[in-house]
Amino acid sequence: MQISRFPRLHFAHLPTPLEPLENLSKLLGGPKLFIKRDDCTGLATGGNKTRKLEFLLGEAQQKNADTIITQGATQSNHVRQTVAISAKLGLRCEVLLEHRTGSDDPDYLENGNVLLDRLFGANIHSVPAGTDMDAAMQEMADDISKNGGKPYIIPGGGSNPTGALGYVNCAMELVGQLNDRSLKIDHLVTATGSAGTQSGLVAGLEGTRSGIPVLGICVSADKETQEEKVFALAEKTAEFLGIPGSIKREAVVANGDYVGPGYGLPTDGMIEAIELLAREEGILLDPVYSGKGMAGLIDLVRKGEFRKDENIVFLHTGGSAGLFAYRKTFTA
Ligand SMILES: *Cc1c(COP(=O)(O)O)cnc(C)c1O
Repeated sequence: MQISRFPRLHFAHLPTPLEPLENLSKLLGGPKLFIKRDDCTGLATGGNKTRKLEFLLGEAQQKNADTIITQGATQSNHVRQTVAISAKLGLRCEVLLEHRTGSDDPDYLENGNVLLDRLFGANIHSVPAGTDMDAAMQEMADDISKNGGKPYIIPGGGSNPTGALGYVNCAMELVGQLNDRSLKIDHLVTATGSAGTQSGLVAGLEGTRSGIPVLGICVSADKETQEEKVFALAEKTAEFLGIPGSIKREAVVANGDYVGPGYGLPTDGMIEAIELLAREEGILLDPVYSGKGMAGLIDLVRKGEFRKDENIVFLHTGGSAGLFAYRKTFTA
């Protein structure tokens, strides 16, 4: 898999560190936990979208785009990072923010990622929950084209085969780090939403026949829906990579038990996970993704789902800027 044949810009801080979670592992008395710090990818407070955007903006530049269009929920980390790299590259950026959670908390509506979106100069268009976001982006792109512009649409979460290449790359980077320190791991655990991250990881880890299973902790969908979504994108990504048919359905595993009442809505497990990582490890998680992902990992450890002699890597996908939108969740 030679991903260097795809257009790519280089702005991520790579490789991201792989660190032991010594205090948390001791506290839980379970397997040895490690954390892959993709919260430290370096673009506008970091996060998993940076790796995807290296390939997406590479393609946009190859196509001579002058305007980037993307979408997300109000507190989208993907939007924040897309707006930031567009600013750096001198591209106009139009973003659609869907009011998906229904929260009318001023912190949710204006602080956190939204504050940063504005700082980076995004043109923000707010739309109600349930809007057909893909259709709305296409409409905007048609308008821009008509006026002589060159729009490039990035789907929600940057999750298409181009974006997923960022996580094929991450899988190869992780395997290299493990080899360098003779560390054998038994599971890779990550939050999964728009599916590009898990799909890219699965394509990369299957494509290199690493033997490392990936577990996605859902943040919005149920297990079945999420697995189908990840599998479909992993297959498309493998095809794009020139290794069609290489993804086994069994390689796609998601757990839907930690979503709680819905996307972006707090759970007790999420709050506990964020507080534990802050107090035991000095690490910031986020309320929408990595907090629920870690809540899932902690609960599965407590339930004895992993052997005590296993090594587990949690992929920290970033998102801490979102904490400032959830002030009341942590100070109530
Ligand atoms: C987008 C995001 C995810 C989920 O990644 P997907 O590729 O959309 O599945 C996880 N964590 C954070 C912080 C994110 O912003």
